[in-house]
Amino acid sequence: MPEFIKPLSDEFENIYYVEGERRGGYPYSNSMLIGDYLIDTGISNGRIRKLRRKFDIKSVINSHWHEDHILGNRVLKEAEFLCHSEDKHIIEDIDKIFPFYGLKVADFPEFQELLEGFRINNTKIDRVIENDEIIEINDLRLKVIHTPGHTAGHCCFFEEKSRICFLADIDLTNFGPFYGGLDSSVMDFEESIEKLEELNMEAAVSGHKGLFQGVKLIKEELKKYKSKIYEYDERILSYLSETNPINPDDLVKKNIIYRKYGPWEVFEIIAEKIMIEKHFEKFLKNKIIEKKNNGYILN
Ligand SMILES: [Zn+2]
Repeated sequence: MPEFIKPLSDEFENIYYVEGERRGGYPYSNSMLIGDYLIDTGISNGRIRKLRRKFDIKSVINSHWHEDHILGNRVLKEAEFLCHSEDKHIIEDIDKIFPFYGLKVADFPEFQELLEGFRINNTKIDRVIENDEIIEINDLRLKVIHTPGHTAGHCCFFEEKSRICFLADIDLTNFGPFYGGLDSSVMDFEESIEKLEELNMEAAVSGHKGLFQGVKLIKEELKKYKSKIYEYDERILSYLSETNPINPDDLVKKNIIYRKYGPWEVFEIIAEKIMIEKHFEKFLKNKIIEKKNNGYILN
């Protein structure tokens, strides 16, 4: 067995953690194989080919539309494709990727080159999945947990008998939750993490940070991950006052989310602005801020 494919349970056969290239670091991601279902295709096309030599992959589930989770779809053309109904339209029309990140191709040619480099193309979705749906795979029961926030149709997958969960991009990385897309929501993200906290997971596969084991540890990691959102709340609120109206635009390039901008600064600044907007939406809904003139003040 190639070393990037690791069985996840002694008791339940046919559940594997499939580690992505660069240990699942972007532009790659980790996958889970359960019976003849593969969740996500970002491990690298080379690894998918190796995996296919060992296993018959009849169905592919995309946890959400992001490029690093669908990049190998084209290698598995003969498989049946599934995703949540909310993300279907983007996976089927990848020209929507740019606008859904709030980007224009001209602003960020490097990203266009990356998409073209991987030859990511449209995938026809054969079947949509919904929250709480059980996908029966041999004697295993894979439950779809709709966890919006990262994208509108983001899903996690919980196998009920083994209590193994695929977390996709509720990924428990130190960066914390990402909700910098137009279909993202910080409020939904919080609720989604809370939904996961209620499950007693024995093991959890993160889309970008490997494998976590133990009910207690996983709950703690989820809590820590969620607390990043509260940190951003505080950081953003510290700029607001009762007298001087401000807008999300005024908080751009202040390293509120990204402590240091990297080579993808163009992307990061747009994502950061969108994320700050999502916090403003949350503050407004909770009546922490109110509109005044052309901006917002503390309520
Ligand atoms: Zn993602």
